[in-house]
Amino acid sequence: MAGLTDQEIEIIAQRIVADLGGHDGVGGKDKIAGPQPSPAGELGVFDNLDAAVRGASTAFCQIDEMGLRKRNTIIAAIRNAMREHGDALAKEAFEETGLGRHADKVLKNQLVTEKTPGTEDLQPQAVTGDDGLNLTEPAPYGVIGAITPTTNPTSTLINNTIAMVAAGNAVVFNVHPNAKRVSCHTVALINKAVVAAGGPNHLVTCIANPTVESAQALMKHSGIRLVVVTGGGGVVKAAMESGKRAICAGPGNPPVVVDETADIDKAGRDIVFGASFDNNIICVDEKECLVVSSVADKLIQAMIYNGAALVWKDQLAALEKAIFKKTNGPRQEAEIDRSLIGKNASVILQKAGIACDDSVRLGIVEVDHDHPLLWTEQMMPILPVTRVRDADEGIDFAIALEHPRRHTFVMHSENLSNLSRMARECNASVFVKNGPSQAGLGWKSEGWTSFTIASPTGEGMTSPRSFSRWRRCTMVGAFRIV
Ligand code: NAD
Repeated sequence: MAGLTDQEIEIIAQRIVADLGGHDGVGGKDKIAGPQPSPAGELGVFDNLDAAVRGASTAFCQIDEMGLRKRNTIIAAIRNAMREHGDALAKEAFEETGLGRHADKVLKNQLVTEKTPGTEDLQPQAVTGDDGLNLTEPAPYGVIGAITPTTNPTSTLINNTIAMVAAGNAVVFNVHPNAKRVSCHTVALINKAVVAAGGPNHLVTCIANPTVESAQALMKHSGIRLVVVTGGGGVVKAAMESGKRAICAGPGNPPVVVDETADIDKAGRDIVFGASFDNNIICVDEKECLVVSSVADKLIQAMIYNGAALVWKDQLAALEKAIFKKTNGPRQEAEIDRSLIGKNASVILQKAGIACDDSVRLGIVEVDHDHPLLWTEQMMPILPVTRVRDADEGIDFAIALEHPRRHTFVMHSENLSNLSRMARECNASVFVKNGPSQAGLGWKSEGWTSFTIASPTGEGMTSPRSFSRWRRCTMVGAFRIV
């Protein structure tokens, strides 16, 4: 396996692709009829769940014997492989899912490749005193079952792999059915890199034809010690009911609040960048904007200057009709047309009969406080903007709009009291002050990255420590050295 050339791996990947069965739903571009036999574990891609868990279990036993130095070599090899193939995988993800923007997916893959923490995240804790020494160390769980979304298929897989393997685990992925080809390809490339670095084959495995049913079977499999899910409310609920320890990264609806003290030109630039990034499919992307009335016109101008297209009030009804299949009244989540998730603004606006060229990254539209665009996580580059009396009303309304999922909030302000109040009261996993939402992911900002932000279960930005179990060893009466 270690001696495979790129050409050979490409042939295997093509075989995996050719062997994959059909899928339905959002973003999938095509449909291949019927289930076909798939390779029995070639480079980590298995045709059935039991075999995938068995492969990963064997690999876990092997890596568990290898020590930290070897683990570091394996992580470095995975990063190098993703540096080499990240751009191509971004293109494949875009082509297979039909979601987002290729160039932005390249940035997402680069971010997770460079800024997902490795074993340096695993700091032991020591307590010493008159009664001796107590050492607490992060240890692996064993085999993790991980379920990934269609919105960030490769970046979640790369991020989860580095963090979980850094913690010493093996992992079985049940990827989103609409992103299975690129996900299988990513798993194959990762396994090739692991084996070439002297690590165990099948350290990272996946199921060739994943379904919601196979995801549920993975959650309940006796060989799985920890379940990690990244997705919407349905998969979070299923994981919490699985009977296993679960780390759950669920949906958000991140508001951005702009008050009258903010640098409005910068706020306009940051919001257009943040809300249009990968066509708004990242869970942290700004999904509604609340602006203090006295600076609302200026902010809208700044957003237009930075590439947003303003939808006029008399065009709102047509836009609403294009985006929603069904509305459920004021201040309620509406049912969106899922075929528009992650599409370019021009596609969505043109469906509403609004002329727009493809250079436009974001549509913005003014709405009142009751409007479903504010209350719904649409994952489209259409940003509803609403006016508030002052920062206090903005903060209170932002918290209401977020449901509360306690996921991500953004604020632009130079007023320390306002920033402090929102930081405290939004009670979120991620709060960004005076930057685009992606700064919360460590993009052009300090700190590590994660594409599994676990708000329902409280881990927040996950890292190798999140995927560790903590073990204590106590020496009674000795080994304090002072
Ligand atoms: P999704 O919930 O449709 O699918 C996610 C994964 O869960 C897929 O692999 C899918 O097959 C599986 N799944 C779905 N329902 C299931 C069920 N009932 N039982 C078992 N498995 C199930 O989500 P998506 O459309 O792929 O991703 C978008 C959603 O994910 C958004 O709501 C977004 O906010 C959220 N998300 C959150 C984070 C985070 O870190 N918190 C990151 C990315 C995406």
